Amino acid sequence: MNELITIRNLLIKRNNRDALRVDSLDIQRGETLAVVGPNGAGKSTLLLALAHLLKPASGEIKYGGKYLREWDDLEYRRKIAFVFQDPLLMDMPVEDNVALGLKFRGVDKAEMRVRAETWMKAMGVDSLAKRRAGQLSGGEAQRVSLARAFVLDPELLLMDEPFSAVDPQTRGQLMKDLAELLAHEHRTTIFVTHNLKEAAQMGDRVAVVIGGKLKQVGAPQQIKEYPMDGSVQSFLQDF
Ligand code: ADP
Repeated sequence: MNELITIRNLLIKRNNRDALRVDSLDIQRGETLAVVGPNGAGKSTLLLALAHLLKPASGEIKYGGKYLREWDDLEYRRKIAFVFQDPLLMDMPVEDNVALGLKFRGVDKAEMRVRAETWMKAMGVDSLAKRRAGQLSGGEAQRVSLARAFVLDPELLLMDEPFSAVDPQTRGQLMKDLAELLAHEHRTTIFVTHNLKEAAQMGDRVAVVIGGKLKQVGAPQQIKEYPMDGSVQSFLQDF
């Protein structure tokens, strides 16, 4: 067994209402799990719970064999990186944005530059190193935010619809580049999208969340062939 994360009988409440139920989910080290479902289904809630930003009303999440509530918050935060729909860059040059997290972690300057350079190159934004964040296109900004996440060398990468604000053509290229990188890197990644095609492109396995419940996990083709209930079937019909 090589699980990084195990979830059992999880209930997350938001505003006193049930937002997400996960009976059982294991996430293997190195796998990319794509979480798919309609808007409001509970996908972001799952990421926030994994980041320990939302606490369970009941049930448990274990990370590396230890309950999340037993982890030191700072130690845990340093294991994960979050990429959001909005890149949320600081008004400073690209290279400083990419290096910022390392600066906070006290990494020395020379190493910081090398690591930032490596990831700017990997994301194809090294030629933009000196440009200020406000002067980037949406796609470029999202590439910078990916570099900013990878440079931290996180054990777990959480991505919440990272390309949904980018135009379709740029988005296709970003998806392709990221899928290649993840296939090569084997970094444990959870990628949220409402688009099944993107989920199938990105994930080793797909987790379908509908109506506040994790319904089914498996290979995309397998879920299409054997949807576990009518809600999964009708969601998949749209693709
Ligand atoms: P998804 O990511 O699939 O679109 P969410 O996880 O954001 O769905 O939402 C799941 C449920 O949690 C929904 O019922 C939504 O209304 C509720 N919710 C989302 N954000 C908040 C919030 N900030 N405060 C309270 N409830 C929220």
